[in-house]
Amino acid sequence: MRLYDSLTRGLVELPPSPGPIRIYVCGSTVYQRIHVGNSRPFVLGMWVRNWLRHTGYEVTFVHNITDVDDKVYAEAVEQGVPSRQLSERATAWFFEDTNDLGLGRPDLEPRATETIPEIVQFIQELVDGEKAYVANGDVYFSVARFPEYGRLSGARLEEMISQETSDLKQDQRDFALWKSQKPHEDAAWDSPWGPGRPGWHIECSAMAEKFLGPEFEIHGGGNDLRFPHHENELAQSASLGHAFAKIWMHNGMLELDQAKMSKSLGNVVTLRNVLDVWGRESLLVFHLSGAWSKPVDFDDDVMQQASARADRLRDVFRGIHQPAPAGSWERFSDALDDDFNTPAALAVMHEWRDHELLRRALGVFGLKSLAENDEAPPEVAALAQRRQAAREVRDFEEADRLRAELVEAGWEMRDETNGHRLVRLR
Ligand SMILES: [Zn+2]
Repeated sequence: MRLYDSLTRGLVELPPSPGPIRIYVCGSTVYQRIHVGNSRPFVLGMWVRNWLRHTGYEVTFVHNITDVDDKVYAEAVEQGVPSRQLSERATAWFFEDTNDLGLGRPDLEPRATETIPEIVQFIQELVDGEKAYVANGDVYFSVARFPEYGRLSGARLEEMISQETSDLKQDQRDFALWKSQKPHEDAAWDSPWGPGRPGWHIECSAMAEKFLGPEFEIHGGGNDLRFPHHENELAQSASLGHAFAKIWMHNGMLELDQAKMSKSLGNVVTLRNVLDVWGRESLLVFHLSGAWSKPVDFDDDVMQQASARADRLRDVFRGIHQPAPAGSWERFSDALDDDFNTPAALAVMHEWRDHELLRRALGVFGLKSLAENDEAPPEVAALAQRRQAAREVRDFEEADRLRAELVEAGWEMRDETNGHRLVRLR
């Protein structure tokens, strides 16, 4: 299998199975219900893990929870609640909403607040190696000491110097590893530099290395994290001589068109709302339809299309099983092994009338539910039998009346070459 790597800007081959493949994907900052866009790296990470395991790899997937960050403190002040209480509540929402995607959980979901000793030690090593300096209770990473800075993101100097400007910085490109406690911050941890809390970027370097070691195969996250977050993670880890990630897998962002969004989804489109309005199957098919590394439009029209595609897949199981020709699974498999091309894999799936193959493929994406044939209840089946009997004696008036009764009950009778079948109306 090969994947596009943002650092080398080319395709990189994974080691042969069984690997191991170690994956770290940046998770959400927990201070409110997560945005639908945050579902993409989660879904992608779970799917890549599923697919690699399906093809014989040993995989460890770490997805962190950023529960200490400027955004958490700011929102807590806004709501007048303790920051710990806010982040605990938002963490529970995160679990609830991502559970409802029906994909299971990542192998490890570390929280930044549970990783403070490792973070402090990481910072200490950077200070000891003169890659970082202490200033008035803060600790800053010295960008000048890392000549490769900017290689991952291609960020320009103007972008680098506009991030959190401070008089304490020796160079405006430098970034905070440790931030001293501010008056509005109600939670802080002890450190050799005084009470405070970690910067966002060092959290991820420490959490990734704690569970995966100083070198691992895949680092994922939204494309908006390339700079400064991932550039800074790489600088921190590489400065200690750690190889860090071999492949940087940045997913394209969801582009929301507010004008094409129904009111039911609201102004801030949360994952919760999308699940409530469209259901998990439509959302997963939506994610399948777009190439992971490219930006993708999100609005009512595309969700309508995704929903129709989910119905088409579901309909296959209401029809007759037709064995797919030899080599069909390989076409599907080749698409995924070639940069995890889910749109191409989905196109192959749409060709199939082979129940067994389609069920297996849907299983990779947490969509086996589409293969669960809806069984009509006995009273509906009895109505259908009566309608069939009426048609056989050419009593079309009665047949039409019974058809209306079936529709009333939420079912439709479809003619098949060898009889009829009942399809649930949605
Ligand atoms: Zn991160």
